[in-house]
Amino acid sequence: MFWDHAIETLDRASLRQLQLKRLQATVRRVARKVSFYREQFSQARLRPSHIGALADVRRLPFTTSADLRANYPTGLLAVGLEDTLRLHTSSGTTGKPKALFFSRQDVANAAELCARCLVMTGVTRRDVFQNMMTYGLFTGALVTHYGAEKVGCLVIPAGPGNSERQLLLMQDFRTTVFHITPSYALYFADFLEKRGINARRELALRKAFVGAEPHTEETRGKIEQALGIEVYNSYGLSEMNGPGVAFECEHKQGMHVWEDNFLVEIIDPQTGEPLPDGEMGELVMTTLRREAMPLLRYRTRDITSVNPEPCACGRTHRRLNRITGRSDDMLIVRGVNIYPQQIERVLMGTPGIGRNYVIQLEGLDEMIIKVELAEAGFDGQVEHLVRLQTKIAERLRAEILVKPQVELVPPATLPVSEGKAKRVIDNRKL
Ligand code: AMP
Ligand code: ZN
Repeated sequence: MFWDHAIETLDRASLRQLQLKRLQATVRRVARKVSFYREQFSQARLRPSHIGALADVRRLPFTTSADLRANYPTGLLAVGLEDTLRLHTSSGTTGKPKALFFSRQDVANAAELCARCLVMTGVTRRDVFQNMMTYGLFTGALVTHYGAEKVGCLVIPAGPGNSERQLLLMQDFRTTVFHITPSYALYFADFLEKRGINARRELALRKAFVGAEPHTEETRGKIEQALGIEVYNSYGLSEMNGPGVAFECEHKQGMHVWEDNFLVEIIDPQTGEPLPDGEMGELVMTTLRREAMPLLRYRTRDITSVNPEPCACGRTHRRLNRITGRSDDMLIVRGVNIYPQQIERVLMGTPGIGRNYVIQLEGLDEMIIKVELAEAGFDGQVEHLVRLQTKIAERLRAEILVKPQVELVPPATLPVSEGKAKRVIDNRKL
């Protein structure tokens, strides 16, 4: 099934021609409207007219998440604020969020791409779509919400968590498809099992769209098995609209990336040099249709490769293989992605805790967090220590979905490093 058969199956030559036309238009626009890019172009002595072929994309500067932060909140806008319609943010890892603006056309287009994705997996207007992603500033829920409405599904904006209520909604409204993170999907499958619910017999679930975090083929299999459904990998990032950037078709052999909207490159994350199709590297994307906030050669930090082989579904847009990880400081522990900063936030928000800590990973994915007590934090009572330890472990579990072992150590006993602290010691044998 196709949402837009003509564009989804456009022959490669015409698709590339369309990409070039849109790339040139984007470069011309940012040169005119975005002083950040204008300056970068002038430093590189680059003029929009130099972009004569798709390969010339390499002459353009990279844009990084640091650039987005440095230009927060409105520095990268290519339209006036009166022409923006929606704001999303992405928290990223540190400091200021990234602000992402959508114009009216961007909002419509993001929904359009999501509609393509959903229909590609067989979703129709008769489906009931339970959206178990986080609503709010995140793109995750809202962007798919509008995509599913566009298809004509009944959309249930459930948001994540509260599994009892999720189940009730699924039972009462006969939910057929849902959108969820892999970690919550695994948790939810467990929850159903504990409640003695046989999803195959008692619920109407057919498909799930799983994304927002790296996950493995094994995780997909587990979710499919537990719930008796088909699970499709869904990839997106806020900088490129959010969900709907790349999605699996019915064949589930990699995710078609909508190349009429995004120009995709794979580079060596160390050298920045382009890599050929099939080789693993960092995904770099250029927006070809974004109006409010076009981005050139955005470094996603996501590690993947491009599969250029034709797909049995007939779509001509190439496929991205499953994202295997990130080239930044994100940790993946028991299939869950964790930024050390999340742990820090919890530790640092707990009274009685000092300033220094290390995250130690051992054996087969054991996480041990050693953390110093505050100077004034310990009254000598062991049960107080145990209580504090338990509290930290619980809070961490709620934040990172993995329950680590917490070891409290006396103040000023952990090594202090000069400059950038080394917070993570990875001794795992995986
Ligand atoms: P955000 O922009 O905050 O929604 O986060 C986007 C990031 O989530 C991406 O850059 C990826 O690192 C990760 N991500 C999203 N979808 C997937 C997926 N299907 N597989 C792996 N990682 C994903
Ligand atoms: Zn396909």
